[in-house]
Amino acid sequence: MHLLIVEDDHALGEALSAGLRQLGHVVDWFRDGAQADAALASAPFDAVVLDLGLPGGDGMVWLARWRARQLTLPVLILTARDGIEQRIAGLDAGADDYLLKPISIDELAARLRAMLRRSSGRAQAVWQHGELEYDPATKMVRWKGQSVELTGLEMALLEALLKHPQRVLSKTHLQQMLYDWSGSDPASNALEVHVHHLRRKIDPAIVRTVRGVGYALGSAQVTP
Ligand code: CA
Repeated sequence: MHLLIVEDDHALGEALSAGLRQLGHVVDWFRDGAQADAALASAPFDAVVLDLGLPGGDGMVWLARWRARQLTLPVLILTARDGIEQRIAGLDAGADDYLLKPISIDELAARLRAMLRRSSGRAQAVWQHGELEYDPATKMVRWKGQSVELTGLEMALLEALLKHPQRVLSKTHLQQMLYDWSGSDPASNALEVHVHHLRRKIDPAIVRTVRGVGYALGSAQVTP
């Protein structure tokens, strides 16, 4: 998942980013709403983790603004244990879930997966595409019942394609999904290399090249 974290507390922001990256997510962390707002306007994200107590404007105000702009991505708010009114107001302003501080990374990750499952209309924890199975919780990929070893970026690419099985994803979109803003400049052919690896490790037909546009999820039926 490509996650956007908005948290002004340095230690907590640091811990959240590190913990979620360790679980294989691509993370961008901002300390105020304005920066997060600019990022949301220019790159695709899967979900937002939003602290409500922020400098230069309450997280709630930003959340209401995003919802008013028809931004529908899942948002999880972080609130203090005694902030029950804040929590209710946050949910009413369009948050999908909340977590009380202090936060457990594992619980946060599980809630993010559940939110994404709901927002993509999937009831199953394991995503199935033909003979391919992908479990976002354990990062387990199986092809024809056999487990497949993928690197973090290959996994992120596969997840992005599985998330939109009917869509052609542009190279720019995929590149933005795969690299966070602080990340080193990826080589221009890095995306092609990951696609090549996915085809080699799973099946040549699993990723479809749409010339001049980008890539789409391909067929996952066993070829006789
Ligand atoms: Ca705060």
